[in-house]
Amino acid sequence: MLDREFFLGFIKIHILYHASKEPIFGVEIADELARHGYRVSPGTLYPTLHRLEKEGYLESFSKVVNGRVRKYYQATARGKLVMEQSKKKIRELVTEVIEEK
Ligand SMILES: [Zn+2]
Repeated sequence: MLDREFFLGFIKIHILYHASKEPIFGVEIADELARHGYRVSPGTLYPTLHRLEKEGYLESFSKVVNGRVRKYYQATARGKLVMEQSKKKIRELVTEVIEEK
């Protein structure tokens, strides 16, 4: 499905953005994405987080919260670099696609 492919790019950038600000966990990022209108199932979200980690953009750590182990993800130096590069691309894209300049 092609639209899924496009949205996955937006979702990944979104995850990377929040993970470069502070550590995030699965349910929290799912809620945040939902707030932006992306309905992401756990079957899409978790493999995406794992892939970003495997590719070196995110790193994870576990923390016990209310007696349960919660897995947090944060951007690595490489992830932050890609985020900075993406910002330039996003700005350029907005200028053309939204502002039609
Ligand atoms: Zn957001």
